[in-house]
Amino acid sequence: MKPEIHPEYKQITVTCGCGNTFQTGSVLSQDLHIEVCSSCHPFYTGKQRLVDTAGRVDKFRKRFGK
Ligand SMILES: [Zn+2]
Repeated sequence: MKPEIHPEYKQITVTCGCGNTFQTGSVLSQDLHIEVCSSCHPFYTGKQRLVDTAGRVDKFRKRFGK
C-alpha cells in the first residue's frame, strides 16, 4: 500500500445559519456548518444587520443620554 501523502479532497455540504447550503471541496470528512456565507454576509449583500447594533445604541443612549 502507498502511504497517503495528500489528504483526501472531497465534496462536502456546507450549511449556513441563514439556511443556505452549497457544495464545496474540502479535506474535511464531514459536512460543515457556518454562520455566514456569500449569500447572507453583509459584505456580499451590501446590507447590514442593524438590529443588535441599534439595541446597543439605545441602551447606550439611555444610560448616558442627557
Ligand atoms: Zn448564509
